Amino acid sequence: MQFHDLAAQYQALKKDIDAGIADVLSKGHFILGEQVTELENKLAADVGRKHCVCCANGTDALELALMMWGIGEGDAVFTADFTYFASAGTASRIGAELIPVDIDLDTFNICPDALEKAIERVEKEGRFKPAVVVAVDLFGQPAQYERIEAIAKAHGMRVLEDGAQGYGGQIGSRHACSFGDAATTSFFPAKPLGCYGDGGAVFVGSDEEDALLRSLRANGRGVQDKYDNQRIGMNSRLDTLQAAILLPKLKALREYEIDAVNAAAQKYTEALKDVVKTPVVLPGYVSSWAQYTVLLDSREQRDRVQQELKAQGIPTMVYYPRGVHEQTAYADRHFPDEWYPNTIEATNRVLALPMHPYLTDEDIQTVVTALKKAL
Ligand SMILES: *Cc1c(COP(=O)(O)O)cnc(C)c1O
Repeated sequence: MQFHDLAAQYQALKKDIDAGIADVLSKGHFILGEQVTELENKLAADVGRKHCVCCANGTDALELALMMWGIGEGDAVFTADFTYFASAGTASRIGAELIPVDIDLDTFNICPDALEKAIERVEKEGRFKPAVVVAVDLFGQPAQYERIEAIAKAHGMRVLEDGAQGYGGQIGSRHACSFGDAATTSFFPAKPLGCYGDGGAVFVGSDEEDALLRSLRANGRGVQDKYDNQRIGMNSRLDTLQAAILLPKLKALREYEIDAVNAAAQKYTEALKDVVKTPVVLPGYVSSWAQYTVLLDSREQRDRVQQELKAQGIPTMVYYPRGVHEQTAYADRHFPDEWYPNTIEATNRVLALPMHPYLTDEDIQTVVTALKKAL
């Protein structure tokens, strides 16, 4: 059994993916070719934001968005303590002060109350200016944007949606990557919308931001004269081959993959809700189920169950074994454990089960039976 079955997806989409690749090879326009423009237009329309600018990966996408706003020294950037490190590290890389914030244990997303407290603490200290909230759509479920945006507005801050794991999710009729002042995603193979290598994108609402991002991803080049570099940027482009692979995958995601992962998640929850803490999707929210993560009773039980499932050929993962505040890279900061009770709880107890759109009912039954037996 596969944790994410990319081979099954390829078999389902082989004809279109192979044709797309062959087309790129025959035309020979390998960097930012016409399929990249087509993908950018389709992604922007798909999420409901005016512009999409593709880049080399989801980490660069976050950094480009922060650079677009001129974030740097003196600014405080807040993000969830329980996330992939890029949500945090990108702010530090451009010189901003990163402040991790505790999560909500039901959704694994940033806790709005903890966010408010953290912002007020930074304001009171007066060393850094609260500037951005990087809200992460962890495991496929959008963060609580209504509250997060209200808090940010009250403190004169911007919101950046880190939709790396969130593509395909919704709140009401609004799609992930349309929240906040800008959004980013990743096309790393295992994400809900993944390519066959690295890729990412930034979503923005104005022509000015679109132009600025296109300059920043090409070493700050000028619009009229590309050898007049007007600012310091980076080299972060999407390969045309990856765009050609993503086009049929985007179609499949919308046609049936989101429905398929939601059906699988519902079956897991139905079968497991009385034996472990199953993930909570808030009313009106849709998850794209980048992960299906349950909470066991303790670290000891989690580790034992993971070993037993492994012995039976069932792959599981621990996303994530430690919070941002515990990372060695931030060892010189003062982030006491008391600020992060829910992250610590999650790191001790989480276990992600096999989840992808090609999971069969038999697969789900095998996982459920083995998990119950291990418990
Ligand atoms: C994967 C991921 C990223 C980074 O994306 P890459 O394409 O791997 O650089 C950023 N944030 C979150 C939440 C992620 O899961």
